[in-house]
Amino acid sequence: MSTLEIRDLRVSIDAKEILNGIDLTVKAGEVHAIMGPNGSGKSTLSLTIMGHPRYTVLGGSVLLDGEDLLSIPVDQRARRGMFLAFQYPAAIPGVSVASFLRTAINARRVKESGEKNDLPIPQFRALLKEKMKLLEVDDSFLTRSVNDGFSGGEKKRLEMLQMHMFQPTFAVLDETDSGLDIDALKVVAEGIEALHKESAKTGILLITHYERILKYVRPDYVHVLVDGRIVRTGGSELAAELESKGYEFVREELYAGQR
Ligand code: ADP
Ligand code: MG
Repeated sequence: MSTLEIRDLRVSIDAKEILNGIDLTVKAGEVHAIMGPNGSGKSTLSLTIMGHPRYTVLGGSVLLDGEDLLSIPVDQRARRGMFLAFQYPAAIPGVSVASFLRTAINARRVKESGEKNDLPIPQFRALLKEKMKLLEVDDSFLTRSVNDGFSGGEKKRLEMLQMHMFQPTFAVLDETDSGLDIDALKVVAEGIEALHKESAKTGILLITHYERILKYVRPDYVHVLVDGRIVRTGGSELAAELESKGYEFVREELYAGQR
């Protein structure tokens, strides 16, 4: 069984320390929600796991089954089974969804030696058909340009289709703080649910500002991130508490002894 273990992770951006020691363990099949106010470091955490060059790791580690992901190149993290959905996915005019998915899948299948290991086209088609049926994605989707003029919900649908095609060991989903309408949230929730129905293996780190997505996805654990630290961990009842009290109470609790 796979484990993703974040240990005492400290990260800075432009010499400013954003994450001040994150500890978190996600096991195969678990859904962990990370919630926190704007600017608390949620996107910093997801982008650091996937190796965005802007973030400087000051200390700590991110271990996938004991291997430190932070010391291997980004493409190899993906090959080890990591999937990151972007908060703001880029549009690629002129590249169809179908060819994008095929290129992305084959890039992940390249062997450690650099040797290609493309998924044969008939298998790719069969897999795509199966996943599109599961996620109720319309055929017309495939010939459109990647994210070009896509609604929030359509972007999320593509993200979920990608995730299902890849069958990652761990997925990090960073949900945007605004602009995600209820339909888009439902697409993500249904995508996660469908993944777990198929095989309960993928571990998920669902990063979100709003608790409303947690009405559709039931996390095993909820973590509250404030000022670059996980200050509370609980079950889904913690999300409900946050909804009724807001984030301020966590901050007040946290700094109560220091004022
Ligand atoms: P969240 O996703 O929780 O809203 P972020 O990880 O995006 O938070 O940001 C955490 C902190 O890092 C914030 O204080 C933000 O102002 C700062 N930050 C984010 N991006 C940059 C950047 N490019 N340059 C400087 N500071 C940044
Ligand atoms: Mg963010």
